Order: sequence, then C-alpha cells, then structure tokens
Amino acid sequence: MPQPYVIEISATGGVDVLRKTARDPRPPGPAEARVRQTAIGLNFIDTYHRTGLYPVKMPFIPGSEGAGIVEAVGDAVTGLRPGDRVAYLGSGTYATHYTGPAAGMIRLPDDISEETAAATLLKGLTAWMLLFEVRRAMPGDTALVWAPVGGVGSLLVPWATAMGVRVIAVTSSPEKAARARALGASDAILSGADDVAAQVRALTDGQGVDVSYDNVGEAAARASLDSLRPRGWWISYGNASGAVAPIAPGILAAKGSLILTRPTLFSFIGSAEGLARGKAALFGALRTGAISAHIGQRFALEDIGSAHTAIESRQTQGATLILP
Ligand code: NDP
Repeated sequence: MPQPYVIEISATGGVDVLRKTARDPRPPGPAEARVRQTAIGLNFIDTYHRTGLYPVKMPFIPGSEGAGIVEAVGDAVTGLRPGDRVAYLGSGTYATHYTGPAAGMIRLPDDISEETAAATLLKGLTAWMLLFEVRRAMPGDTALVWAPVGGVGSLLVPWATAMGVRVIAVTSSPEKAARARALGASDAILSGADDVAAQVRALTDGQGVDVSYDNVGEAAARASLDSLRPRGWWISYGNASGAVAPIAPGILAAKGSLILTRPTLFSFIGSAEGLARGKAALFGALRTGAISAHIGQRFALEDIGSAHTAIESRQTQGATLILP
C-alpha cells in the first residue's frame, strides 16, 4: 500500500499552508467506518477554512466530502461491510483515508460511481436544499442564478429548469454564458460588463425575478436586492467574492417586503431523516437525467494547492475532483 497521508494546515493563509503529512489512518471507533478514498470533491468552503474566513481549530485537515471503499467497520456497525462503496460529507477528507461515523455514510447503488458521488453529493444536496427545502421552486418561477456553471450551479441550473423554472444566469465570461445556456438557462447576463439588475428588469418586463440564488455574496448583494419582484426571495447561500455586509431590515421593506435567508446545508441534513430525503431526491434526479455530474477538472491530492488556486480564480467549471 502506498504511504497513507493527509493534507494538513497549521495556520491560515495562501495555498502554501496546505502541507502533505504522512499519517496512518485512524482505526474506526465502534460506530465508525474507515474508508480508502478514491475521489474527493473540492468545495469552495475548503478555501474559506484555509484562509480563515470560516475559523477552524488548528491543526486542521480540510476537505468536506469524499467517496471510496470501506476497509474496516467498528463493532456496532450493522449497515456497512468492508468492500462497500460509500460517499459522505465530513470534515477532514483531504487524505488517502477517512474514518468517520458509519451512520452518515451513504452506500452507493451500482449505477452511481464514486466519482459521480464525490462530484454531486455536497453540491447536489445544496441544489436540493435551495429548490425544495428553503423555498419550493414552482413551474413558472423566474430565478436569477449566480455562478451558474460552477460546482453547485451546474446542478442547480438544469434541476431548476427541469422543474419548470425560467433561469436567468449571471456569470463572468461569454464562454461561461454559453455553457449556462447549454445547461438550461434561458438568458445569461455578464456580471462584469452589464448592469445586472437593469438587465433583469429588461428580461422580465420590468417585473423582477421571484428568487435570487446568490452564492457570490459581497459583489452580488446589491444586484440581487435590486433584481427581485415585491415579496421576492434573496437566498444568500455563499460568499465566493467575500462576505455580505450587514443589511437593515428596512431595506427589505422599502423594496417590497422581500425575504432574505442565509441557509447552510448542515441545518437541512443534520437529521437522518433530512439526509435520507435529500439523498433520495438527489439520486432520483441523477437517475431521471434531470441532472448529471459535470466533472470539469481533476487534480491529484498532492497538488491540492493548484486546485484551490483554480477555484479561487474562477478557472473551474462544474465539479472539481481531487484524486488521492
Ligand atoms: P463554484 O464552482 O461555483 O466556484 C465559485 C464561482 O463563484 C466562480 O467560478 C465564479 O463563477 C463565482 N465568483 C464570483 N465572484 C467570484 C470571486 N470574486 N472569486 C471567485 N469566484 C467568484 O464553487 P462551489 O460550487 O463549490 O460553491 C459556490 C458557492 O456556494 C460558495 O460560496 C460556497 O461556499 C457556496 N455553498 C454554500 C453552501 C451552503 O450550504 N450554504 C453549500 C455549498 C456551496 P462566475 O465566473 O460564473 O462568476
């Protein structure tokens, strides 16, 4: 077996704080399983842990999801066996092996590969949360979708479209705009060149959109607010450009009884029932073809710094896989 290792940080900073460290895998506790990882999903949140935007206790092994093959299970585990293929959300997946709670591990059906699972679990559950749990998307809705060809966006756009939602995408380049249209968006606005809210009004007969799925944060906040129809929803679920400044409730009133929410996936899948509901919806959408894994790029785990640089500089499209 190649030497097991983890990628660890002991201080916040640039990509050079990501250090490869030899580490034997931890044996599973009674309710845990140990997995030899075959694919790790890169998520923007991993960069927030590295930079300190979301503080973590040091030393810290980043990584929020993974997939692989169960090697060993604890005495109390009944639902998993060595050899099972699984995927999971969890902290510390930048490693050759992951040991964690067996109850949170999803056994993969034969038709879902580990790469597909690592590309879609966290991001697809986020799309499910946005479309079904935070606010039920309805046929006839018009939605503004930011970063439409990114990890979450490349699942959110086709899924919303399949539900009968008209998607207006906002992205940074003509190439990405074409990709957003291919994913199902009816229109695409260029964030750097266009006045986003004015374009939205022009595309909606002056009405505005029902909802803005905003993962860009700081740079998008004003345009999200100004693009909504009265009683529209600003679903602020990420900070790719930086954290959003505080907003006075009176602004929501002045713009027509708007609704602002700031959901985080872990509030929706914290219970076994929530995770099971999300998993069923996600695997169902993959099976019907409403969505599919868009793996835009792969990096070796040893080269994790390049993966962070790529996602932080908007060079990635779709999901990014990290291969141990
Ligand atoms: P993406 O693959 O979408 O990558 C980020 C994208 O954000 C870029 O490609 C770019 O798209 C856009 N962007 C806009 N401004 C900037 C900027 N200044 N710097 C870098 N990128 C920028 O990442 P993910 O799919 O992994 O995550 C997207 C966001 O969603 C993140 O903020 C993440 O934290 C959040 N998220 C939140 C969850 C929750 O539970 N609330 C769960 C999962 C993700 P473009 O070029 O098209 O503008």
